[in-house]
Amino acid sequence: MTPFRLTIISPDGPKFEGDVEEIIVRTTSGDLGIMAGHANCVAPLGMGQATVIIDGKKRYGACIGGLFSMVDGKATIVATTFEWAEDIDAQRAEAAYQRAQQVLDSKDASDTEIALAQARLRRALVRKSVAGHK
Ligand code: ATP
Repeated sequence: MTPFRLTIISPDGPKFEGDVEEIIVRTTSGDLGIMAGHANCVAPLGMGQATVIIDGKKRYGACIGGLFSMVDGKATIVATTFEWAEDIDAQRAEAAYQRAQQVLDSKDASDTEIALAQARLRRALVRKSVAGHK
């Protein structure tokens, strides 16, 4: 497959810069697969796994929100948070999951606390799942 350029950045700093053969990202409206020659596009990112194929091998990341763009053959992921599978602290994700679950199980939680806990739960579930690819 023809390689193309991918840049991944997050507020933590650059996460990747190099040639890849395929990308699958979770957008707010579902998974988007990108190969060389894809038309220019911009898509808001949801919370989900990002899969990148490099030299025929799959690499997985947990991508939480942001923006994907493919412009003139160059792909860019500007993520709110992004961790490669090998960088995910699975115990931390499990603790975040449990904290969120406690709030959701509580009868006293406010609407705001419930909304925040639901978002934390979803982030933790993505990280737990992607960490399974280590
Ligand atoms: P926590 O309660 O554990 O902080 P969170 O979902 O609130 O989880 P975020 O606000 O999404 O965390 O992320 C804050 C920072 O911590 C980001 O830089 C993110 O990449 C990093 N991060 C969050 N969870 C993990 C994890 N399980 N492993 C590695 N890095 C993580």
